[in-house]
Amino acid sequence: MAATSIQQNHDRTRCDVLVVGAGPAGSTISTLLAERGWNVHVLEKDRHPRFHIGESLLPHSLPMLERLGVLSEIEKIGIVKYGAEVVSPYHGRSRILYFSKALDGSQPFAYQVKRAEFDKILIDNAVAKGVHLHEGVRAKHVEFRPGSTHMIHAQDETGRSLTYEADFVVDASGRDTFLSSQLGGKSRNPHHNSAAIFGHFEGVRRLPGRDEGNISIVWFDHGWWWIIPFKDGTTSVGAVCWPSYLSTRKVSLERFLWDTIALCQPVAERMANAKLIGQAYAAANYSYRRTTMRGEGYLMVGDAFAFIDPVFSSGVHLALNSATLGAEVVDAYLRKSPDYAIHAKEFERLVRLGIKTYSWFIYRFTQPAFRALFMSEGSIFKMEEAVLSILAGDAFGKSPTQVPLFLFKLAYYLVYLFNFRDNQAAYRRRRRGVPETVTTVQDYAVPQP
Ligand SMILES: Cc1cc2nc3c(=O)[nH]c(=O)nc-3n(C[C@H](O)[C@H](O)[C@H](O)COP(=O)(O)OP(=O)(O)OC[C@H]3O[C@@H](n4cnc5c(N)ncnc54)[C@H](O)[C@@H]3O)c2cc1C
Repeated sequence: MAATSIQQNHDRTRCDVLVVGAGPAGSTISTLLAERGWNVHVLEKDRHPRFHIGESLLPHSLPMLERLGVLSEIEKIGIVKYGAEVVSPYHGRSRILYFSKALDGSQPFAYQVKRAEFDKILIDNAVAKGVHLHEGVRAKHVEFRPGSTHMIHAQDETGRSLTYEADFVVDASGRDTFLSSQLGGKSRNPHHNSAAIFGHFEGVRRLPGRDEGNISIVWFDHGWWWIIPFKDGTTSVGAVCWPSYLSTRKVSLERFLWDTIALCQPVAERMANAKLIGQAYAAANYSYRRTTMRGEGYLMVGDAFAFIDPVFSSGVHLALNSATLGAEVVDAYLRKSPDYAIHAKEFERLVRLGIKTYSWFIYRFTQPAFRALFMSEGSIFKMEEAVLSILAGDAFGKSPTQVPLFLFKLAYYLVYLFNFRDNQAAYRRRRRGVPETVTTVQDYAVPQP
């Protein structure tokens, strides 16, 4: 094992692994590496607890949280989410998709959490397992020294320069994409371009009974809405819109958020007595990916490598998953294990598989053909169960989803073809950023393959 003692003088700290970012990805990989005895330091530019978006978890994240030893703490702060309500003004109705109906029904629920609380639990757990956390410290630059240690230059809140010398660097900086900013190689997703406005509210009406904690996803003319209830009675509400719509804003963000709520009747009805808590937020054009996710003595986990639209609440799940797989890669590298190449290949394969699986659904989510399939009740050939498995986070080939998913995709293309003009028009509108308008409420016939 490499040096496990900390040699620290005025401005230089020696460690085995330096992790940039203490979000879910950074906390997870640092915990797993510290458990294996490595000397891990984490730099976090902010201080926990801090606001972050990404509050709806997926059922298949729970075993990973259990493995980290934090599940009982998450249970205390989270409200149970048994499924997702999908509301279509284009069909004049809604339906609830329950995780219990997924192919692998072993994970029938997840939690909605405030990220300030969730992220704090994860990083406190990392520190309890021996991780050295440096809050208020921003990583600025990595001096890569092939065949040797890397030097990471950072700055604290007072402007003091700090240097960390590490055998391995993990970029877990989220959408700041720290290493990509230095190395390049990041490109905006040409297939999907969107942005978001959101806030936390009190007084938002909930679904009744056991469904109280479910997420609601509501289509509307400029994109889609999320409504995510929290345990303390407050609610996260946000819209993911085409950037062309957001660029029409001439009023304050808060006013614009309320004006946008008024454009979507199902959301406006649930928010008739709602009040914004604190400020409104925006996240600009955001879907991107980097060409490679690792190199000599470094790798990227979570959003630092890629970010996809959050409609299926996949972000934290993908971050936890890539960090868990990434820990195997870093550990093998530090041990100079002959299995390093195998772990690295598997890490890449599974990270890309997860992103690819969700991306197919995301690119089509606002197409009329997709809405028609999602709103049609009943399932043959286990198509619905397979889609629910993906929505629950079972996206890495664990359950036999391949055949039913293939049939679902086939059904989608058939519906698209039978309603070609409508779907092409929607596709073109989407490309040009022109809003759709609900004129008539109409159902497509959904042929089964
Ligand atoms: C509008 C929107 C809605 C979303 N909704 C959901 C959802 O419902 N469910 C879901 O699962 N996901 C959702 N996501 C995605 C989710 O937010 C992310 O996928 C998730 O937070 C990724 O975790 P991470 O650890 O990779 O990055 P982050 O959580 O972003 O953590 C990165 C950390 O790195 C720190 N950092 C950055 N740069 C530096 C630096 N140079 N030096 C030191 N520290 C640095 C940051 O301060 C931050 O704490 C949503 C995202 C958006 C934009």
